[in-house]
Amino acid sequence: MRNPSDSDLRARAKSVIPGGLWGHMNAAKLPANYPQYFARAAGCHLWDVEGREYVDFMCAWGPMMLGYNDPDVNAAADRQRALGDIFNGPSERLVELAELVVETVPHADWAMFQKNGTDATTICAMIAREGTGKRKILVANGAYHGAVPWCNPYPNGATAEDRAHLIRYEFNDTASLERAAQEAGDDLAGIFVSGFKHDLGKPHELPGKVFAQTARQICDRAGAALIVDDVRAGFRLHTGGSWELVGVRPDLSAWSKAIANGYALGAVTGNDKFREAASRIFVTGSFWYGAVSMAAAIATIRKMREIDAIGIMERMGSRLRAGLDAQAKAHGLNLQQTGPVQMPVVLFDDDADRKKGWLFCSEALKHGVYLHATHTMFLSAAHKETDIDRALEATDKAFAEVARQVS
Ligand code: PMP
Repeated sequence: MRNPSDSDLRARAKSVIPGGLWGHMNAAKLPANYPQYFARAAGCHLWDVEGREYVDFMCAWGPMMLGYNDPDVNAAADRQRALGDIFNGPSERLVELAELVVETVPHADWAMFQKNGTDATTICAMIAREGTGKRKILVANGAYHGAVPWCNPYPNGATAEDRAHLIRYEFNDTASLERAAQEAGDDLAGIFVSGFKHDLGKPHELPGKVFAQTARQICDRAGAALIVDDVRAGFRLHTGGSWELVGVRPDLSAWSKAIANGYALGAVTGNDKFREAASRIFVTGSFWYGAVSMAAAIATIRKMREIDAIGIMERMGSRLRAGLDAQAKAHGLNLQQTGPVQMPVVLFDDDADRKKGWLFCSEALKHGVYLHATHTMFLSAAHKETDIDRALEATDKAFAEVARQVS
C-alpha cells in the first residue's frame, strides 16, 4: 500500500478534526512546504510521511532532549511496559523518580507528577493560593504558561473572570514587577517567572540578577510563592532548574517537555514552605500515575547527568550560532541570535512581518533542515558536529536566497 501524502492526510483531517489540527500546531502558520505529518524519528533526524529526512531543530517543540528513540530511555520504558503501565495505584517508579528529582533539583524538597506542562503550571498556581490564602498571581506579558482558561493566551472559550486575579508585569523590568506587586497589595499569592524570557517572535533574554533577586524579595516579604515555569527550559540550561544560573531559588517549579525525553510527564517541585499546601489541594488524572513515563524520566535524568547533556547541547548550539553569524555576515544580512545557544531564536533585522525569517526557514527546509522562524528552537544531546555542519550547508543556501530576494 502506498504511503498517504501529507496533503491527503490534511484533507482527511479537515473532515474529522475541527480546523484540521488544534493548538500551537494550528496557530503556527508554517510555510506551505512544511510537512504537517511525520512518520518516524531517530537521534536528531525526522522523516515526514513522504519519506523526506530533516535535521531537526525543534525537538518535538522541546520534549526530545537526548535524541528521538533514545535506546536507553526506550529500554527503561520497555522494561516497565512489560510489567505494566497503569495499575490501581502507582508503581515503585513513583517513589524512585521523586527521590531522583529531589536529589537533582536543589530547591526541591518534594515532587508531584502529572502529564503536561499546563497541569504543572496550574497546580503551582493552586498550591500558591492554597498556601497563602491569597488570590493574585503575577505573570509576565507575553509569557506562555499553558492552554487552560486561567492562562490561555487567546480569549476564545474563556471568560474575563477566568483571569480576574492575574496581574501583568514585564519580564526583566524590576520596576514593573514592583508596581504589579503593589497592585496586588496584601492579596499576593505568587509570582510566575519563565526559566528565561522566550516569548514567541521576540528576542529571548536570560533573567537578570537584580530582577531575579527582586522577585525573590517580593515573595519573601509577602509570604508569596516564587514560581519558575521551567516547562520549556527545564534540564536544558541547568540540571537543577534554570534559575540556578542566577543563584535564585524558587518555592515552586513547573516542569514537563524534556524530563522524560518525549514520554508524557509533567512535574511540580517545591520546598517545605509549600509542602502542606501541596498535600491539601485535590489534583489528579486517570493517567498521572502511569509507570512507563516515570521509568523513562528516571532513565532520562540519569543519562542527562551521566553524559553531561547540557554541555553537549551548549557545544552544538555554539557551533550553530557561530556558523549562522558568519554566513549572515557573508551574505550581507543582519541577524539577532538570542537566547541560550541550546535554545535559540533567530530573527532577521527589519523583518517585522517575519517574511525574511520564514523565507529563510522554508529554503533551509528544502535542503533538509527543520527550523522555526519565531518560536524557541531546541538543540539536543543527539546533535553531532556532522549534523550541525550539514545544517550549515543548508542555511548557507537559504541565506543566499534571502539575500537575493531582498536585493
Ligand atoms: N509553560 C511553558 C513555558 C511552555 O513552553 C509550555 C508549552 N509550550 C507550557 C507551559 C505548557 O505545557 P504543555 O503544552 O505541555 O501543557
